[in-house]
Amino acid sequence: MRDSVRSLLTIQCSPFLSPLSYNRAPSGDSASSLLTMKAYMCVICGYVYEEEKGDPASGIVAGTKWEDVPLSWRCPDCGAGKEDFEMVEV
Ligand SMILES: [Zn+2]
Repeated sequence: MRDSVRSLLTIQCSPFLSPLSYNRAPSGDSASSLLTMKAYMCVICGYVYEEEKGDPASGIVAGTKWEDVPLSWRCPDCGAGKEDFEMVEV
């Protein structure tokens, strides 16, 4: 409620300032997003790799960051490589 009023005011009073206020919010969260586990979806079959869970069946322990997953790792469902995965919001 309060946020919608504020953004309305921002747009009406100073439209040139609104991009700045939009940029400020996500950058303030950057520190906490470093601690957030991400998930990556196979664009071919829809399998989702979650860093929080890893892929123990393939020897990837829970909590393994996507960048630490070896390039030799393959999608357990369709065999696609890491290049066929896209980051998704969880
Ligand atoms: Zn797949």
